[in-house]
Amino acid sequence: MLETSHYYFSEAADNLGLSSKIKKILITPFRVVKVEIVFEDDSGQLRSHLGYRVQHNRSRGPLKGGLRYHRSVDEDHATALANLMTWKTAVVDIPFGGAKGGIDCDPADMSKRELYEVTVRFVQQIKEVIGPTQDIPAPDMNTNAEIMGWIMEEYSNYGGFAPGVVTGKPLQLFGSPGREEATGRGVTHCVERALADKGRGVEGTTIAIQGFGNVGSHAARLLAAKGAKIVAVGDHMGGVANADGLDVNGLMTWADRHHTVKGFDGGDAFDGPEVLTWDADVLIPAAIEDVLNKDNANHVRAGIIVEGANGPTTPEADEIFKKRDILVVPDILANAGGVTASYFEWVQNMQQYRWDVERVREQLERIMHRAYDGVADVAKSRGLDLRTAAFVQGIRRVGKAALARNYTREKIDL
Ligand code: NAD
Repeated sequence: MLETSHYYFSEAADNLGLSSKIKKILITPFRVVKVEIVFEDDSGQLRSHLGYRVQHNRSRGPLKGGLRYHRSVDEDHATALANLMTWKTAVVDIPFGGAKGGIDCDPADMSKRELYEVTVRFVQQIKEVIGPTQDIPAPDMNTNAEIMGWIMEEYSNYGGFAPGVVTGKPLQLFGSPGREEATGRGVTHCVERALADKGRGVEGTTIAIQGFGNVGSHAARLLAAKGAKIVAVGDHMGGVANADGLDVNGLMTWADRHHTVKGFDGGDAFDGPEVLTWDADVLIPAAIEDVLNKDNANHVRAGIIVEGANGPTTPEADEIFKKRDILVVPDILANAGGVTASYFEWVQNMQQYRWDVERVREQLERIMHRAYDGVADVAKSRGLDLRTAAFVQGIRRVGKAALARNYTREKIDL
């Protein structure tokens, strides 16, 4: 993951003609925090986990990024994802920097009390480096609104009432309406723009989606409501397809109950990974990393790929897609709707003023369309694909802010 994010960064930095010194400055995290979390588990045994918070770049504002509870969490992984957050917040032009972190644990193995315990102790260890104007965590893999509520409560014990210390909180605890669906909604806006680039509309477009969790299900629901046909959905257990378009609301009810789309009787069953090479106009990978790679990139049949997931495409696959003229809307643009709505939540927390859901949706649409158009303009003017253009856009904005904060006699052309 770190290699991939560095590779994409380097492509764009080279296009901008940045020296290796400036590249190093921009890619190196501002601060890396690693802590040991020791607690007594339910059986009375002492247990310890490692917790991380990588704060990558704060030139454009307080640091922002998710907290993940997963065995894969380590310094490199968090650094890669923190980097992506820096470019992502810059691409949508919201006043935040990038961070990421989490705890190396498996929540499936833990009781709710144990999860609460590790969360509270983690906050105790990182409370000096987070806060509404410093670093604002959010939910990510295996963390949710309930955990964000615990973080807010624990932090407020030290810092006073501070709902803006985390986003993605429960609605009754200073969360924002429209936050939950926001990433899927942002993906939808990117699908609209990508189709428009090809002279098409959403109506009648066929779409295949990998992953039917938060991102995939909301994107499916919103695109179906605009007249698209969701022809195939695959997840970690299996897939279901219907050439006339799946009943997305029915599929959501099924997946809610069974935690998979497998077994839904509104279509034909298939093996989950086949969804990536399904015959559809648009493919939305909205599950995990590295699923589009050199082994399947030549078999992808969609003409447009909109990356709902973080890092679904390896650099080798990306090269193949460029050669095959497949339009790829990159993760740092396509899935930025979530962090954008998190920004709205933070703004509401700081102002103690609640927005209604219509305002959230309207502002999200404006920001996502503006971001897509900005990246498309860079792509056109520099003859780049959308991914490199998005990194160019992000690096330029972050680089300019970093330079404006510092005294330097060096001339850096951004
Ligand atoms: P989720 O946990 O709600 O859903 C994940 C989905 O992926 C599930 O349908 C699951 O079955 C499927 N999946 C898991 N492993 C799989 C595998 N090996 N093969 C196929 N499918 C598999 O997660 P989410 O919040 O929807 O996030 C999905 C992706 O989007 C992640 O990469 C995440 O980092 C990214 N993302 C999420 C948000 C957000 O706001 N939720 C924001 C930005 C990016």
